[in-house]
Amino acid sequence: TADISTVSEKALSSILEKNRSYYTQGKVADYIPELGKMDAKAIALSVVDKNGNIYNTGDVHKKFTMQSISKIIALMIAVNEKGEAHIFDKMGYFGSDKPFNHFSNLETTGKPLNPMMNAGAILTTSLISGEGEKPFLKILDMVRYITKNPGIDYSKSVYESEKSTGHRNRGMFYLMKNNGLISGNEDQLDNYFKQCSIELTAEDLAKIGYFFAHQCVRFDGDDKYKNTEVAKLVESQMLVAGMYEFSGEYARTVGLPSKSGVGGGITVSVPGKIGIGVFSPSLDQHGNSLAGYHMILDMVKQYGLSIF
Ligand code: GLU
Repeated sequence: TADISTVSEKALSSILEKNRSYYTQGKVADYIPELGKMDAKAIALSVVDKNGNIYNTGDVHKKFTMQSISKIIALMIAVNEKGEAHIFDKMGYFGSDKPFNHFSNLETTGKPLNPMMNAGAILTTSLISGEGEKPFLKILDMVRYITKNPGIDYSKSVYESEKSTGHRNRGMFYLMKNNGLISGNEDQLDNYFKQCSIELTAEDLAKIGYFFAHQCVRFDGDDKYKNTEVAKLVESQMLVAGMYEFSGEYARTVGLPSKSGVGGGITVSVPGKIGIGVFSPSLDQHGNSLAGYHMILDMVKQYGLSIF
């Protein structure tokens, strides 16, 4: 294997080209009508190296919605505010073996399995303090901070599309309200829809991957959120539940904390080393970017990145 410190845009570009055609084997998410409009052929790969240098290849300026990847940011904020014990009194640390929108044991134990599936993520966002849109704005500000990209915003059209079709998420919200886990009104669910609609690029995802790989220190060295325990918590959830019900097999084949979203992005943390961001909107049956997964696999093989 090659030393990751020798990574170059040329090397990334050959990995991208090798995997470009995978998009033909998958399908762009269309259960949220706005998402179905994405260009299936778009593809990008970004790396932030140990020293914070950025390497990009492909459609690096192409924006997409972060979707489920926003769940790791919400988790960090909720834990920073309320403490881990308070959050995990209301949900589990379990791995995912069910699709992202499964009700899992909401009907039995009453508590979500983990903060990475929709139920737990909706609950996590509801636990961030503040009235109305405030919790969402905290998530947006944190994404802007981590990426050092103040221009990041959310897509109003994707948000409206999520809100008008997200009846299953609404069902989970009210079941958790019935179970006494959620106390607020539907503004809290809207915050979840908005966080899913935040638009960014593969480079932004690589910076997020770097952040959790480096104890919540930003790629430029800013350490105002440095927190080893929070980084370990978030990375462990990414490892056991970040890739939907594919997480177990992914841990075997890739072996890195990663979080996927149905917008086609995946953020990857290589602990103590680098952050990787990939984008290609054509998804496998679990909701993971197909070309994205294969680019990550090649990165891992070529540079020996697995934590195992
Ligand atoms: N907005 C999506 C939903 O809750 C997020 C899904 C995902 O990326 O897994 O349906």
